[in-house]
Amino acid sequence: MSRTPLLLPTSLNAESHSTTKSGYHVYIETFGCQMNAYDTELIRSIMKARGFQFTQVDEEADVILFNTCAIRENAHNRLYGHLARYKARKKERGLVIGVLGCMAQNLKQELLDSRSWIDVLVGPDAYRRLPDLLTAALESQRKGLAVDLSEYETYAQIVPDRAGEVNGWIAVTRGCDNFCSFCVVPYTRGRERSRDPEGILEETQRLASQGVRQITLLGQNVNSYRSSGWDFARLLIEVADVPGIQRVRFTSPHPKDFPPALLEAVAQHPTICKHIHLPLQSANDRMLERMGRCYTRREYLTLVEAIRKEGPIVLTTDLICGFCGETDEEFQETYDLVKEMQYQAAFVFKYSERKHTIAARKYPDDISEQVKGYRTNEIIELQKDISLQKNQALIGSEVEVMIEGDSKKSDQQWMGHTESNVTVVWPKDDLTRVPGDFASISIQDATPSTLYGIVMSSEK
Ligand code: SAM
Ligand code: SF4
Repeated sequence: MSRTPLLLPTSLNAESHSTTKSGYHVYIETFGCQMNAYDTELIRSIMKARGFQFTQVDEEADVILFNTCAIRENAHNRLYGHLARYKARKKERGLVIGVLGCMAQNLKQELLDSRSWIDVLVGPDAYRRLPDLLTAALESQRKGLAVDLSEYETYAQIVPDRAGEVNGWIAVTRGCDNFCSFCVVPYTRGRERSRDPEGILEETQRLASQGVRQITLLGQNVNSYRSSGWDFARLLIEVADVPGIQRVRFTSPHPKDFPPALLEAVAQHPTICKHIHLPLQSANDRMLERMGRCYTRREYLTLVEAIRKEGPIVLTTDLICGFCGETDEEFQETYDLVKEMQYQAAFVFKYSERKHTIAARKYPDDISEQVKGYRTNEIIELQKDISLQKNQALIGSEVEVMIEGDSKKSDQQWMGHTESNVTVVWPKDDLTRVPGDFASISIQDATPSTLYGIVMSSEK
């Protein structure tokens, strides 16, 4: 598989360390995956250390930032929709607009266009330069670009800016070396790097002392973690052993990196959740080969068998419909396997060609939008039925849930997740419980995505 060199054009605006006049207000919107949400916490931390303040109200802001995702189609158009909201205001009072994250590479040319509304463009490995670039844009109307990818940047010493949460995320790897043919991540986030284990354990201890009860370890290929002689299984166990941490999750693992020690850790360690997100993408060998996924259908199924032998571990997955050249029969194989696997949940994506990827260079994107849409809906509907049946089977039983906060719809309801990561909602029955407490919930009703119940008991 070909590898593209990842040192991209260097910054236009190599600022020295100008000091920031404190008091600039920043409003940031985050799109995409959990890794982006985590990066926003790093960005907030880096900027606060230089005197910037954050606001939830965009009208109060001097700087508007978008932390973007480039994984799927329409990201570009959606971003332009959001940028358009600030066009008039930028003209009126010189607002500075920055685009951060994975779309930074794609937008380079547009930044160079003098009519562009974008002032600052910063890629995922250059957030430390953001305060200087924004200061130059605010004070000297200078445009700034920093999209270099790094082989070393892990933001290891930056403490993410996060307050009052019971959920904590820790990125243990950044970037990805897998180069699945459809995926833009290796080009936008660069080569895979692992953080040192000591820093990760210190961060876990600090989070635990601040009241975090559930840790999710993050990485594009999280289970290929390797640093200082530690592999992912060892890291996971050590994190799960930190006093005060009651649940540990990880996402996303790649099916090719599951040694027996990792399966054992998930099955046996009391604080590691019995849930594995195991992206399949396609059940057809020709498609898997074209996708560059490094496993066959048989190898995936052998892994699933090994997981199921370890005990009741819940599986969820990612699927792509309408990848280059996918025939009806090849799609049917995926549909049939989803039916057979009975995943708890699946994220189903319509294939969208991404610039620079191996698939974009090698295979025609020849499945019509109509067929892609039809196949995607077929699997979504199938999975909805499966998820509903699984959730309905829990009606009348009790599940253990960690209280995470108010439900989306009402501050009179709590929301949390089961160990298998299904959302549970129930009425607040008294005011002594707080987020981080565990509650035993008797399930009364179910939809494909949510369980509804009443509390039986709760413990601190
Ligand atoms: N690293 C993870 C893995 O290997 O499964 C996934 C990371 S990716 C951010 C999340 C999901 O987006 C992928 O599993 C894939 O299903 C989907 N995806 C990535 N590129 C895509 C594309 N070009 N079109 C459609 N879906 C895509
Ligand atoms: Fe993209 Fe995941 Fe493949 Fe890496 S492993 S290239 S992030 S799909």
